[in-house]
Amino acid sequence: MWAKDNLEKVLSFFFPNECAVCDESISPLSLICEKCENEIFSSGPYVKPGKLGCCDVYYFSLYDGNLRELILSYKSGRWRLHKILSELFLKLFEYYPPHPVLTYIPATPSSLEDRGFDHMEMIAKNLSKRYGFVLKRALIPLKDERQYGKSAKDRKSLSDKYHSNCTSKEVTLIDDVYTTGATIRNAVSALKMSGVEDVKVYILAKAKG
Ligand SMILES: [Zn+2]
Repeated sequence: MWAKDNLEKVLSFFFPNECAVCDESISPLSLICEKCENEIFSSGPYVKPGKLGCCDVYYFSLYDGNLRELILSYKSGRWRLHKILSELFLKLFEYYPPHPVLTYIPATPSSLEDRGFDHMEMIAKNLSKRYGFVLKRALIPLKDERQYGKSAKDRKSLSDKYHSNCTSKEVTLIDDVYTTGATIRNAVSALKMSGVEDVKVYILAKAKG
């Protein structure tokens, strides 16, 4: 313990680190501070599960406060945070058991270009290792919205957003934020068109309102 504490002190001197949520100074070995971690983990599962057509949608919490900061920080480039976000999904799975085949909402080409990584794919890979899922890239984006000048409002009416060639009958689908439900609706309909019979959807944060 003594050696570990001293090692952390030395590392902190050379590699100062901040909590990705509140900017408090933390150990170089941590990603967020204990206070933020406790606050985020105790905030869910909080939102009642919902229905989207005939599939069940499970949420960890609301898109607000520290959870919102954590997701934004992850998407702005702090990719190591995928470990914490994966743990939130694992906690959600304890309450609502998922199907063994896992897929995710893929990044659009423009967001992939902006961030340099597919943020949901990184979480899905981590989850498949830790939970034993069969990971499938079952959704292929058909076109880039920005390229076609689609606003958030127009996105609601876009029904041909993904192509799917999934051969599984039951699929677990994950995404980070649920706003209008348009993305999930499009993804579920693409999966169903390819023959999937049941989709369970898991979301980290539901937008208020
Ligand atoms: Zn913090």
